[in-house]
Amino acid sequence: MDKPLQEPALQTVSLYVAQPKIYPRAVHGWFAVWRWVLVFATQALFYGLPWWNWNGRQAVLFDLEARRFFIFDLVLYPQDLVYLTALLLISAYALFLFTAVAGRLWCGFACPQTVYTEIFLWIERHTEGDRGARIQLDRARWGPEKLLRKSAKHAAWLAVSLWTGFTFVGFFTPIRELGGATVGGLLGAWESFWILFYALATYGNAGFLREQVCKYMCPYARFQSAMFDKDTLVISYDTARGDPRGPRSKKQGPAALQSAGLGSCVDCKQCVQVCPTGIDIREGLQYECIGCAACIDACNGVMDSFHYERGLIRYATQNGIDKGWSAAQQWRRVLRPRVLVYTAILLVVSAAMVWSLATRLPFRADIVRDRAALARQVDDGYIENVYRLQLMNASGNALRLQLAVSGIDTLAFSSPPALHVLAPAEARWVTVALRVPPEMAAQLSPGAHPMQFRISQVALDGQPGPVLVEKSTFVIPR
Ligand code: SF4
Ligand code: SF4
Repeated sequence: MDKPLQEPALQTVSLYVAQPKIYPRAVHGWFAVWRWVLVFATQALFYGLPWWNWNGRQAVLFDLEARRFFIFDLVLYPQDLVYLTALLLISAYALFLFTAVAGRLWCGFACPQTVYTEIFLWIERHTEGDRGARIQLDRARWGPEKLLRKSAKHAAWLAVSLWTGFTFVGFFTPIRELGGATVGGLLGAWESFWILFYALATYGNAGFLREQVCKYMCPYARFQSAMFDKDTLVISYDTARGDPRGPRSKKQGPAALQSAGLGSCVDCKQCVQVCPTGIDIREGLQYECIGCAACIDACNGVMDSFHYERGLIRYATQNGIDKGWSAAQQWRRVLRPRVLVYTAILLVVSAAMVWSLATRLPFRADIVRDRAALARQVDDGYIENVYRLQLMNASGNALRLQLAVSGIDTLAFSSPPALHVLAPAEARWVTVALRVPPEMAAQLSPGAHPMQFRISQVALDGQPGPVLVEKSTFVIPR
């Protein structure tokens, strides 16, 4: 008789392991100062730039509706997309270069996730206290003090988040008008949505997700290893010097270490407690390490208090640690082929962009043929074509533009072309008609004939300035 089929035993496999909450301890030191310098510099730029006026308008404004980007005197149109491409290339190669030289410098010091987490942690420390106090507060029962401290923290977080959302939208909508609309309760649906969306993203990422963004959401953590090699400076624990680890009295000076069979690491775990991602750098380089150098500051403080030499945790290369190289020997290996290639590409693209911006014409033009009537015969047998020209002032000054044509003998405007005076950043459509006399039309075969529009800038004293040549065609009907 057949045995009944057994049901396979059900087993639950968790693809996400809940992590214990991390309570980073405050840290002081050289790298902490640098991190705060970068917090102030980046945030002064972010919060301050939209309020800066330049020649009577917002100095930096990405006006998507008008399809124009204003950056001080520069006015960029969709035709200037090449500059955005160059900027992306420069950013990418700068990231590759810094990573190849010194690991995750961007992550540890300038990434918005790091910067806002630092600001939110500062608020947390001033409302709930440092690591120990925060752990105790979270364990404590709800009462007036806990309620007050938590409410103060969340109120401050929300204020920073909303101001950040408002500032972000202020790069795309004139910020003074946006401020007036916010105060007057006249915000549009899209503006409200983006302010709240960006505010919520800041509140969630810097207040709650924190290291989870770096560990699970940021793709850079995954592919950075492709840019590392054995000569990349990374945050390293010097195992040879630090192990065997163990607690000891502060009275036990460096000379007594060998006899006690101990390395320099006093196993105080300060380096773990200050780590924003909660890892132990003594276990070796891990992908969770964002290179913030907080553990260097913490460990240097401990080394000072024990009168040991600093640098048990330090920036070092794998070759440097393995072969016991000095700092100078490691720095000599910085100029290796991949660093030189990244530097060369970065310099070439940056120089090309600067040269292109410096020699860029202050105006642009787009030619559109009138598709409804490509060519027609008018009075006295003249053949006429109609064009629509978009003249764009790509500068912060008023411009006087004069039109002319070339490429076909006797081709002329049907009526004398006007001098177009464009206000700063103005884009204007003008319609022009060109014609050739019947005798020239008879010489030209039916079809499209190449010709050019020549748009020249005219100075106030009438002197001709730079000329933009735009190709088009003149059509002779069958
Ligand atoms: S801070 Fe320095 S001494 Fe303390 S556990 Fe970390 S490596 Fe060891
Ligand atoms: S291990 Fe050190 S450098 Fe890496 S994230 Fe933690 S504190 Fe920052």
